[in-house]
Amino acid sequence: MSIKDNLLIIGERIRKAENKYGRPAGSVQLLAVSKHQPLSALKAALQAEQLAFGENYVQEMAEKAAQLTAYPIEWHFIGPIQANKTRQIAALATWVHSVDRLKIAERLSKQNPYPERPIQLCLQVNISAEPSKSGVAAEQLLELATAVSALPQVQLRGLMAIPAPEDDFAKQRQAFAAVRDLFERLQAQGFPLDTLSMGMSNDLEAAIAEGASMVRLGTAIFGARGY
Ligand SMILES: *Cc1c(COP(=O)(O)O)cnc(C)c1O
Repeated sequence: MSIKDNLLIIGERIRKAENKYGRPAGSVQLLAVSKHQPLSALKAALQAEQLAFGENYVQEMAEKAAQLTAYPIEWHFIGPIQANKTRQIAALATWVHSVDRLKIAERLSKQNPYPERPIQLCLQVNISAEPSKSGVAAEQLLELATAVSALPQVQLRGLMAIPAPEDDFAKQRQAFAAVRDLFERLQAQGFPLDTLSMGMSNDLEAAIAEGASMVRLGTAIFGARGY
């Protein structure tokens, strides 16, 4: 299967899930997660009109961006963030999904070289099922969202989560429902959020069922990652 075929199949899966779970057609955006994929793979996706790419490593994103300046790519940073990497991220990424502490958001805001273009942010939440250390705890979310919303050169758009891998559909949904609940509570408190970044190759249907607006797919598009 070519990358183009994979993108067609995934587009179909997304449309079917939108339809099945009562989501408006076209309400779920596809982010192509290209970490550890060669430039040729990104070019194949670009030729199939995929323009939004997610990367986890700053150096890798910078190297790819430098070689793909001819394309109108929208870079999304989705990996853990060290404070000393924020300047590079701010210079390259349109979106950052993995903000989990105020210091990082403050630095991105201060270091954004294009003040007329606020960096679009999601707060990564650590729901209880999540084994990784990344993500803000649910109890700290409101405080973080309030502080991030006050920063001038970033715009808070929503939440991101990476639930623990799980093959059971009902359990996948349960984890995503917990994220959705946090999202809706923030909306009810007046935060103008419109983005729920959740769902990967193995659980995108469950994520769409629970309101995902952006699914982040790597393997399903590009195949296994080369390291
Ligand atoms: C690698 C990665 C993905 C893509 O995972 P696949 O299982 O290959 O679809 C999505 N989100 C994040 C944060 C990732 O690190």
